[in-house]
Amino acid sequence: MVGAHLRSQTPSSLAVLWPDLPLDDGVARRIVGRVVGEDRDDLEGVRGLSRRLAAEIAARSHTLRLEVVDRRASRIDPFVKYLFRAADGRVFEAVRIPLERPRWSVCVSSQAGCALGCVFCETGRLGLERGLEPWEIVEQVLTVRREGPERPVTGVVFQGQGEPFQNYDNVIRAAEILRDPCGARIGGDRITISTVGVLPMMERYTAEGHPYRLILSLTSALQDKRAGLVPLARRHPVDALAAAMRRHAEKRGGPVNLAWVLMAGINTGADEARALGRLFAGVRVRLSAIDVNDPTGRFHPPDDAERSRFFSALAGNGIGFVRRYSGGADIHAACGMLASQSTGGTAFPRRGRRGRAEDAEKNNE
Ligand code: SF4
Repeated sequence: MVGAHLRSQTPSSLAVLWPDLPLDDGVARRIVGRVVGEDRDDLEGVRGLSRRLAAEIAARSHTLRLEVVDRRASRIDPFVKYLFRAADGRVFEAVRIPLERPRWSVCVSSQAGCALGCVFCETGRLGLERGLEPWEIVEQVLTVRREGPERPVTGVVFQGQGEPFQNYDNVIRAAEILRDPCGARIGGDRITISTVGVLPMMERYTAEGHPYRLILSLTSALQDKRAGLVPLARRHPVDALAAAMRRHAEKRGGPVNLAWVLMAGINTGADEARALGRLFAGVRVRLSAIDVNDPTGRFHPPDDAERSRFFSALAGNGIGFVRRYSGGADIHAACGMLASQSTGGTAFPRRGRRGRAEDAEKNNE
């Protein structure tokens, strides 16, 4: 496809995309409203847009769609897992998450594969294929909206395949389009970006003052242990990440948001709770804990007694926490361990492990 994808544009980027075309801000807003807000591919009848200008824009741009290769609806609850294929054959997934009111949230992928190789993550084993374009992220949300019109989509979480901060510009652009009143109209505070700790991008994100919620998927507060689970931790140590999250919370207001994958015998000890208490002394913390769900059997969730001991230790060290539960278990909707069949993994039949989707659900309530 030649030219710019119209669903990769915000009104302001579109207005300056072709300096030789007389596109003012109002028309740019209405074009974004047409292709994202109304989810249409044509520019027919856009107010203020002449037929000639519409034809010129159409010649310089495209509105390609993703192919939905598969969709799995849970029989237990309204989770749906989507497998998408892009024109170059890359595949990636999104999960529709039911919220209580009732509304939908969407757990989106930001990359096909991932370069970071966290040991508890199937996606990491695929390696990085490429970052997704803004429109490929937006399209995941539009597909859910189109196919589930009985509820509005009011939340988006960047917790599917990939590390969002390794595709920073496209993720921020996609979030802008999703938030735009002419776009998907999702509140900025209902859009969540989850990182495993790409420190320079966390600092940049805080400095830029975006309205989206930031979660650090920490999973261990002990540097050596974390480095064994998340290889990126060797470059960006726990202390520095905690300091960055404190600065973010201070600038933004609100608590430090952390995600924690509970793994029996690994990261549920009192030493972890004490380390968290030290790292975040004097700061409000909201830790989302989810049981690991590992198809390889290498990692196991804690039993009730171990989990309770950990939660008591967290409370004793001043760390606020919420426990997340799995949804859509029969379709393995937890989207932490996304691997795609066509790249050698088994996206649908295997169990997700990291529970990002469930985490996402609560975080967008
Ligand atoms: S947990 Fe996230 S950052 Fe780590 S390998 Fe998986 S997708 Fe990448």
